[in-house]
Amino acid sequence: MILVTGGAGYIGSHYVRYERDRGSEVLVLDDLRLGHRAAIDDSPLLIGDLNNAAVVDLAFRTYTIESVVHFAAYTSVPESVAHPDRYYGNNVVPLIHLLDSMVRHNVRNIVFSSSCATYGDPQYIPIDEQHPQAPVSPYGESKRVCEGMLQAYGRAYGVRYASLRYFNASGAHPFAAIGESHEPETHLIPIVLQAALGKRDKVVVYGADYPTPDGSCVRDYIHVCDLAEAHALALDRLRSGVDRGEYNLGSETGSSVLEVIAACRRITGRRITVEMGPRRPGDPPQLVAASKKARTELGWRPSHPDLDEIVATAWKWETNRRY
Ligand code: UDP
Repeated sequence: MILVTGGAGYIGSHYVRYERDRGSEVLVLDDLRLGHRAAIDDSPLLIGDLNNAAVVDLAFRTYTIESVVHFAAYTSVPESVAHPDRYYGNNVVPLIHLLDSMVRHNVRNIVFSSSCATYGDPQYIPIDEQHPQAPVSPYGESKRVCEGMLQAYGRAYGVRYASLRYFNASGAHPFAAIGESHEPETHLIPIVLQAALGKRDKVVVYGADYPTPDGSCVRDYIHVCDLAEAHALALDRLRSGVDRGEYNLGSETGSSVLEVIAACRRITGRRITVEMGPRRPGDPPQLVAASKKARTELGWRPSHPDLDEIVATAWKWETNRRY
């Protein structure tokens, strides 16, 4: 079976759904501090903390684990700037435990949730996998450290790994009742949609003086179901014997904060109050992926590349949230 850490979280739960739909057996390991039981329906769940090496090893001793897909992590750039300890502790230490158990139990394959935040302020756009990794936030740095650990365990112990560098995960499953739910929410699209619903008074745009066409930050929004599929493709590639790979996962289209707000107005038909605010520490002005490598090597074809479609699925979720 596939061990899915953080499988009750936002991206993890969409991956669990994808694997179950193609008939795979999964075991979710999640402490449910940030994840949601309801997000995985009746998938097998081990509730435990990955910071505890004994808990991690118990999973490997109790179940026949063939591969690992590691989502569990803290994911907020601004929180990582304010509390770097949480990010080094919670994002780096669990991977050591996982890799040690993998080596001990002779489990070879791991797909790892990395991030475009490992690149830092881009030297050129679109960003390909050759771009230097110079993170500007503790979150990005924690992911870069993990990538380095995977390389080292690969060389030393023959662990096969794929590091998937996500751009901005967004949207929700078009028909399964799963979606994004963070507490507190820091991500743009849910915040804008909550303002459309009247759950928030306004949206604050973090910086309107960036060197971008409209002055707000540009990001590459990629649908969470497309991310989920990329994990399955990456795992299949490792299973076929390929020993490593780093892949950017993005739509290859940049959208500014103001363009996202415009899309949310279009899709919801609601009034959304917007206020210009100061820049948020740790935010590069522009992040857009070149993800040709994932397309050619993994055969990845995003099915929901359009921002309006992404927002429409997020809106459907936001108006029918179960958790
Ligand atoms: N953002 C914003 N207002 C908000 C939340 C986010 O202007 O209330 C901006 C943020 O500065 C960034 C973009 O929206 O440029 C996407 O931020 P998000 O937190 O969704 O993802 P990140 O790029 O940090 O992974």
